[in-house]
Amino acid sequence: AKDAGGNNMQFYAHEMNARALARFTIEGGLRRSLEREEFVLHYQPQIDVLTGKVVGMEALLRWHPLDKPPMSPADFIPIAEETGLIVPIGEWVLRSACKQTCLWQEQGYAPLRVAVNLSARQFKQKNIVSLVKKVLDETGCKPEWLELEITESVVMEDPQSATDTLQELSNMGVHLSIDDFGTGYSSLSYLKRFPIDTLKIDQSFVRDISTDADDAAIARAVIALAHSMRLEVVAEGVETIEQLDYLRAQGCDLMQGYYFSRPLPPEDIEKFLKMNKSR
Ligand code: C2E
Ligand code: CA
Ligand code: CA
Ligand code: CA
Repeated sequence: AKDAGGNNMQFYAHEMNARALARFTIEGGLRRSLEREEFVLHYQPQIDVLTGKVVGMEALLRWHPLDKPPMSPADFIPIAEETGLIVPIGEWVLRSACKQTCLWQEQGYAPLRVAVNLSARQFKQKNIVSLVKKVLDETGCKPEWLELEITESVVMEDPQSATDTLQELSNMGVHLSIDDFGTGYSSLSYLKRFPIDTLKIDQSFVRDISTDADDAAIARAVIALAHSMRLEVVAEGVETIEQLDYLRAQGCDLMQGYYFSRPLPPEDIEKFLKMNKSR
């Protein structure tokens, strides 16, 4: 029996390449992460370009496994998505973000809209609308304080059914934005029909805005397009004053990026808000 076990191990070592093994380990870690309370949310301020005031926050998930170094969401979200673990994790994110924005208001900060990323899998859940409603009820978060970010590729995958879901969420009073805009293929006729409030210009266009004429033209076109449909525009990944100046000149409404602040844990956001208030 011992020999057979050894052979099995060899078989596995042989068959499982390093990548698959890593995935397997991450999946196991993710399964335990909720009960072990290994997740935290960081928040990144969104700044109104005209007033310089913070008007919202994007909640960004951070994973600090007890026994391993922290891992970037870019690495673990895709695995959570494939395994379906994103559904319970995403519900935790939604509930935590709603609780946090209520807490800040109880503490006397001006109301801040909190933006939560919805993954493809989550958005396609049959009960997504009732889940959002339930979380709002349970946390006391008003619908208008919540924004849901859905990527362009997810809504365009099945535009008809996406329109229905978006409509129900919008009827509830929740703010809706299209994330990573410009990286997928949006049909403009659908874009017009989606009951959305905001387009987020993907950071890949912002990065070289001051050196690459094509990127600058894309950003300018997205801002004009959004405004022509009476949508608000957020630029993400703003790191430099040159990017800020260009985007402001084009009439971009909100900005988010390291130039203003990195995503921060709640206690550091409170310091940021106190400083922002005195501007
Ligand atoms: P995203 O939704 O496009 O989020 C923006 C990403 O850009 C974040 O990376 C943020 O930290 C980063 N960022 C913000 N400002 C700057 C900047 O000035 N320069 C640069 N280079 N980067 C900036 P992060 O936090 O690593 O998240 C990566 C992605 O993981 C997110 O992209 C989102 O797709 C996903 N994600 C994060 N949290 C959640 C979550 O709670 N649920 C779901 N479904 N996805 C999440
Ligand atoms: Ca986002
Ligand atoms: Ca984005
Ligand atoms: Ca992105």
